[in-house]
Amino acid sequence: MALSDLNPVERNEEGIAAVLGILKQRLGERFQTGQAIRSQHAHTTTYIPTQAPDGVAFPETTSEVQDIVRACAAHRVPVIAFGVGSSLEGHTNAPGGGISVDTSRMNRVLAVNPQDLDCTVEPGVTREDLNRHLRDTGLFFPIDPGANASLGGMAATRASGTNAVRYGTMRENVLSLTAVMADGETVTTGKRAKKSSAGYD
Ligand SMILES: Cc1cc2nc3c(=O)[nH]c(=O)nc-3n(C[C@H](O)[C@H](O)[C@H](O)COP(=O)(O)OP(=O)(O)OC[C@H]3O[C@@H](n4cnc5c(N)ncnc54)[C@H](O)[C@@H]3O)c2cc1C
Repeated sequence: MALSDLNPVERNEEGIAAVLGILKQRLGERFQTGQAIRSQHAHTTTYIPTQAPDGVAFPETTSEVQDIVRACAAHRVPVIAFGVGSSLEGHTNAPGGGISVDTSRMNRVLAVNPQDLDCTVEPGVTREDLNRHLRDTGLFFPIDPGANASLGGMAATRASGTNAVRYGTMRENVLSLTAVMADGETVTTGKRAKKSSAGYD
């Protein structure tokens, strides 16, 4: 029995068609709908069958991510973020169709503060990219889930790995996130300070 038989998800065909048109116009070549690229954005190494999205967007800025999410929210179309696809349990599958948001073009290290032992990165930076960038500082980023995962994907899955006993998991290593919510608004969850008594913990 296929997973879709166990857990049927209705496709919103009208909404999906509308969003495909909007994103093609907004992103041009950075929005792809070919079969091969869609399948690559839904692969899974488990028994779960591939459930491809209807299109793959390659945003370069937070504001483009907001535009994609707003278009999908307006037409009630699912959005699935995509780092490098190294997760193993069908995380990137699109059972009801929708749009995969591939963060590979948001791959800049924005700031490194060696004396504070922190840095600011875009979500598509991979852990190996970051370690190459940090090499000359004598510092390194310790979380190592085995795959060369993206920092965004690692934060989303609270990645761990072989160094977790010594250095913790992503939970202990992320100070703050800027995240795009389901309605397209952004929230920032904290500051670089380790401790603040302002706002929610
Ligand atoms: C050989 C191997 C060994 C592994 N060992 C470990 C291990 O020891 N510990 C461990 O924790 N994991 C392990 N993993 C799993 C995997 O590497 C991690 O889950 C990794 O954190 C996924 O990152 P990714 O960039 O590949 O994310 P993806 O697989 O692309 O996405 C994973 C999930 O995060 C979401 N997501 C991705 N990017 C974002 C974003 N920017 N914003 C919001 N949501 C986002 C996706 O929608 C999806 O739900 C292993 C994988 C492999 C292949």
